[in-house]
Amino acid sequence: MNEKITLVTGDITHIHADAIVNAANSSLLGGGGVDGAIHRAGGPAILEECKQIRNRQGGCHTGDAVITTGGNLPARYVIHTVGPVWNGGSQNEAQLLKRAYQSCFRLAQQHDVKSIAFPSISTGIYRFPKKKAAEIALEAIRDALADNPALQEVKIVCFDEETRAIYAGLLG
Ligand code: ADP
Repeated sequence: MNEKITLVTGDITHIHADAIVNAANSSLLGGGGVDGAIHRAGGPAILEECKQIRNRQGGCHTGDAVITTGGNLPARYVIHTVGPVWNGGSQNEAQLLKRAYQSCFRLAQQHDVKSIAFPSISTGIYRFPKKKAAEIALEAIRDALADNPALQEVKIVCFDEETRAIYAGLLG
């Protein structure tokens, strides 16, 4: 087990880290699941910045990420990424999910983020199989930790016991 990877159960909006990641949708205008929770807890400043980004670049493609203030959250930044919708697995879903994690780490590095927390991207409303998603997340997390020595902590925030058990099994 990599000592920089920690498993947490609970609500990502309570996490103290330099950045938390949002599983957003390409409109960047908010939605359900973790996205709704982050906007509710973080206040209007986050949505305001999302709207400015949307006006500038027209939202966020699947696999890409954008960064905003953390608003009223304990985290300094929210990194919003758009994971793929699961459509059976033959539509590049695995590559797109990995790219979503990589896009978050790229922005994190650019903003000198030393601790970051991720929800289980795409495994809620977007229906990505949880075990496969966790394998992909861990691959991307381990690559990022190897590439960026300044990154000190990656928290994986599990919202349910099933997700936690899957990660715990993979982390050994
Ligand atoms: P997606 O559309 O990418 O599937 P969801 O928000 O529907 O995004 O779900 C992604 C994951 O986030 C799921 O595992 C869901 O249980 C979890 N989740 C929902 N609310 C929270 C929260 N407040 N904190 C952490 N994880 C959450």
